[in-house]
Amino acid sequence: MAEPLFARVALIGIGLIGSSLAHVIRREGLAGTVSISSRSAATLARAEELGLGNEYHADPKDAVAGADLVIVSVPVGSSGEVARAIAPALKPGAILTDVGSTKASVIAQMMPEVPDGVHFIPGHPIAGTERSGPDAGFAELFENRWCILTPPPGADPEAVARLSEFWRRCGSNIDTMDPEHHDMVLAIVSHLPHIIAYNIVGTADDLESVTKSEVIKYSASGFRDFTRLAASDPTMWRDVCLHNRDAILEMLARFSEDLASLQRAVRWGDGDKLFDLFTRTRAIRRSIIEAGQEIDAPDFGRQVAAHPEKV
Ligand code: NAP
Repeated sequence: MAEPLFARVALIGIGLIGSSLAHVIRREGLAGTVSISSRSAATLARAEELGLGNEYHADPKDAVAGADLVIVSVPVGSSGEVARAIAPALKPGAILTDVGSTKASVIAQMMPEVPDGVHFIPGHPIAGTERSGPDAGFAELFENRWCILTPPPGADPEAVARLSEFWRRCGSNIDTMDPEHHDMVLAIVSHLPHIIAYNIVGTADDLESVTKSEVIKYSASGFRDFTRLAASDPTMWRDVCLHNRDAILEMLARFSEDLASLQRAVRWGDGDKLFDLFTRTRAIRRSIIEAGQEIDAPDFGRQVAAHPEKV
């Protein structure tokens, strides 16, 4: 096998994203040694049982010591705390990155902690499922998905190139952008859909005129597709909402305006308006399938769970 890309990789946080990285790093031979740390003893023990790495450390400082690449995969609200904990042990010349779903807030929390000589290059793989924890990961998660890097001004181009190569070998395509733009784009493509799903599932749960058993029994009519998003990790999504507040509020304002207009069309029987919108939106799904970001199967979502190799 070819030389590993990094002699030593540290994975801080070993949930869905961390464990998926562990699987793909092993499959592709991307690291000589993988050292793992997680906040709780239970998660760390489970990672060891699953054989996700070569070393397991309760203290994240011990896991990052000597590492050439450090990947922080924890809820975005904990990024600063983790950066503070590992900073004294980071090796000069190491690449430090993260996978957080928000970027400006993660940078604001982590950047001040990064020692001179360490290359901090934030990242976000646009890939996920509603599952969490070390058992949830699989090597194919990043296959044919985008990974967005947001290198700070003046970042070392060689370090950016090495991290890009790492993600490419994980199966991803790379884009770079500034963190504010990332946060605005993700607010509409990811954060708003989750908030809408949490809201609709919450509304159905609160209804009194329709029983809970009816909601579940007849869910195949549309509701269940929202429940997949609404089953996502509560800690992660609480943190996303708190840490991308401005962009989410802006998108929610636009969404509410458009919803009011749709409500008006329903109230006044404006069939043309409804038909035009529904035609436009149908074309968007077709474009997503053509871009290889969805499989062309009517039961989307469930096939993926049964056959992760199709992700
Ligand atoms: P996860 O499965 O819930 O795993 C979270 C990991 O972070 C666990 O190892 C957990 O440790 C650790 N952790 C939790 N709170 C912590 C704290 N306060 N301090 C230190 N470690 C802590 O989460 P995930 O889905 O992998 O998400 C990780 C990151 O990836 C998040 O920033 C998320 O925004 C981003 N992301 C997620 C997705 C997705 O679809 N899930 C997609 C792209 C990016 P213990 O279990 O030991 O407590």
